[in-house]
Amino acid sequence: MSAEEVVVSVDTARCVGTGLCAATAPADLELGPDGRARPRRARSTEVGELTEAAELCPMEAIAVHRAATGEQIAPLW
Ligand code: SF4
Repeated sequence: MSAEEVVVSVDTARCVGTGLCAATAPADLELGPDGRARPRRARSTEVGELTEAAELCPMEAIAVHRAATGEQIAPLW
């Protein structure tokens, strides 16, 4: 069985460009030329890093969903 794939999204209207997420999940998130975070690829298997990034974001700007079902897995609160 292959690793689960997830999709990360960033609400750029909320992002204030701390860079915290890019430091936490560097394979999947980066700061763009506008100073806001953005995904680096359409899908990822780095579930742990992305979940941590979503939970650390002070603006709650990051969401992580299961690619297969669309279920949101982070943040959960
Ligand atoms: S941690 Fe949140 S506020 Fe900071 S750059 Fe990432 S998305 Fe933007």
